[in-house]
Amino acid sequence: MSKLCAPNLRISLAALARESVHCGLNQGASGNVSMRSRAGFLITPSGQNMAALTADDMVEMSLAGDVLEAGRPSSEWRFHRDIYATFPTAEAIVHAHSPFAVALACLRRDIPSFHYMVAMAGGVDIRCAAYATFGTQALSDAVLAALQNRRACLMANHGLVAWGRSLSAALALANEVEALCGQYLHACQIGDPVLLSDVEMQEVLEKFKDYGSQT
Ligand code: 13P
Ligand code: ZN
Repeated sequence: MSKLCAPNLRISLAALARESVHCGLNQGASGNVSMRSRAGFLITPSGQNMAALTADDMVEMSLAGDVLEAGRPSSEWRFHRDIYATFPTAEAIVHAHSPFAVALACLRRDIPSFHYMVAMAGGVDIRCAAYATFGTQALSDAVLAALQNRRACLMANHGLVAWGRSLSAALALANEVEALCGQYLHACQIGDPVLLSDVEMQEVLEKFKDYGSQT
C-alpha cells in the first residue's frame, strides 16, 4: 500500500514522538502521538521504540477506524480517533507515561486548583479518567468522559493525555501537566495545599483566553 498523506506531516509527527522521549515524557515503547490528516489522522506504530521512530513508521487511519496503509497503528488509536471526532479544534495528541503523572494517576486523584496553571487544560481542575485496560474502547470512553471541557486528563494507573491546536501546543500541555503533577505531589508531602477558589480560577481562565502564543 502506498503512503497517502504528505511526507512533511510524517516527518513532523516522527519528530514529535522522538521529542516526547527527549523531554522525559516517554521511554521505550511507552506512549504514542498523533496528528490530524486530510483522510483522518496519522499515528505512531504499536510497540516500537519511540526514540527511534522515523517518518516511514507513521500509520494513517480514517476516523471510522480503518487502517489506510501498511503498518500496525498504536493500540490506543481509539482514544486518538474519539478525541479528533469530539473536538474539532484538536490537531495533535500526546499520550505519555511520564513519572509524576503516573504517580498521581496511580492514586486515582484529580489535580485540583492548587496552582493557577491548572487552567492551561481548560478548566478548574484536571480530571483522572477511570481505569480500563490499555487499547480498549472502555479506556477511550473513560478518557473522553474525563476530557469533557478539557484539553488534558490523567488516566488511572496509566499516564496522561493532552491535545492541542498544533503539535507544539499538545507537547507543551503534556509537559505542563507533568510539571503540575510533580509540583502537586511535592506540596502534598509537606501538607494540604491551599486550593484556589472557583472565582479565582475563573479569573485565570478569562485571562488565558488571550495569553501566550495560542498555538
Ligand atoms: P502502543 O505502542 O501500542 O502505542 O502502546 C503504548 C501505550 O502507551 C499503550 O497505552
Ligand atoms: Zn499508554
